[in-house]
Amino acid sequence: MAAQYVLGYDIGGTKLGVGISTVDGKLIGTERIPNKDTRPEDVLPEMIAVTDRLLAAAGLTRQDIDCFGISAPFPADPVNGIMTAPTNNPKWRNVPILDFLREQLGMDGCFENDANCGALAEGFFGAGRGCRDFLYLTMSTGIGAGVITNGRLVRGRSLCGGEVGHMVLVNNGRQCACGQRGCYEAYCGGRAAALALQELLKDNPDHPIVQIAGGRIEDIDMVAIEKAVRMEEPMAMAVWDDMARKNAQAFGILINTLSPEKLILGTFAWAIGDLYLDPIKKYLPEYTWPQMLEACEIVPSELRREISAYAGVAAALNFRQERI
Ligand SMILES: [Zn+2]
Repeated sequence: MAAQYVLGYDIGGTKLGVGISTVDGKLIGTERIPNKDTRPEDVLPEMIAVTDRLLAAAGLTRQDIDCFGISAPFPADPVNGIMTAPTNNPKWRNVPILDFLREQLGMDGCFENDANCGALAEGFFGAGRGCRDFLYLTMSTGIGAGVITNGRLVRGRSLCGGEVGHMVLVNNGRQCACGQRGCYEAYCGGRAAALALQELLKDNPDHPIVQIAGGRIEDIDMVAIEKAVRMEEPMAMAVWDDMARKNAQAFGILINTLSPEKLILGTFAWAIGDLYLDPIKKYLPEYTWPQMLEACEIVPSELRREISAYAGVAAALNFRQERI
C-alpha cells in the first residue's frame, strides 16, 4: 500500500515546527523546537530526532511517509533548497536543508517560500478550500503572497514568483529593505509603516501618537497606529488612509491581472478587522474593473495564527499532488 502520511517542517524565526499529516490533510502530530539564535548544526539533528519521536508516538515508521515539505523564509535558493540568508536568524547562512532532510530521512521532499506555503495551507485547510484561483497575502511585518491559479501554485521561471510586496507602486518612492524604491511593502508592511511614522515624528516627542505608543518614538508600531486611529488622531488617520489607498492600488493590480475568486488576507485583516478592511474596500473600485471586483471575495485568513502549523505539511501535500 502507498504511504499514507506526509511530514511538514516550518522554519520560523523563533520556533521550528515539525508536523505529521495524513495525505487527506488530518494533522496527527506536531511539535515545536525553539529556534531563536540557534545554530543549524544543533537544530538539524534535532529535527530528525523530533521527527522519529513523533512517528513513534503515532505508531508509524519512515516507511509510512510519502514525502516531506519545508516552509522557509526568503531570501533563499529555492532551486537547490538552500536557506541563504534568512533575515530573522543570521546564523543560518547557506544551509542546504532540502538535501540534508532527503539524505537523513531517505525520502523526497520540497522547499517552498513561507508565503507560498501559507497559500497552500489556506487552500488545503482554510479559506481557499474548493477555490482554484486565489491569492494569500501575509500582511504583517512584511508583505508576501502565494498565488494559486487554475489550482496550481505559481512559482515562475526563477521559482521566486509571487513577491507582490515588491511591486513598485511609487516611482522613486520610499526605500525598501529589498533595495528597490517605492515597493508596496515599503508603504503597507507593518515594519516599514511604523518606521516611516517614527521618522515623521522624530522631532516631535510630545505628539499624541508617541504618547499612545508609551512615550518612546521607537516603540511606535502598527498596534500604536491602530490605537491612534481608533482615537481619531488626525495624523494617524491620514497615514491609515494612505495605507488603505496603497493596499487598494496593489489589490487592484492583482485582481485585474489574475481575476481571483478570493484574496485571502493574513494578520492585519483578522487582527484589526473592519477598521483595516473597510477603507481598502471603499477605494478598490478606483483600481479595478467592476466585473473582476465583483468576482472576487476579500476575506481574512481562516487559519490565522495556526497557519504555520499547516505550512510544511501543505507544501508536502502539494508536492505529492504535483508529482502524481
Ligand atoms: Zn521591496
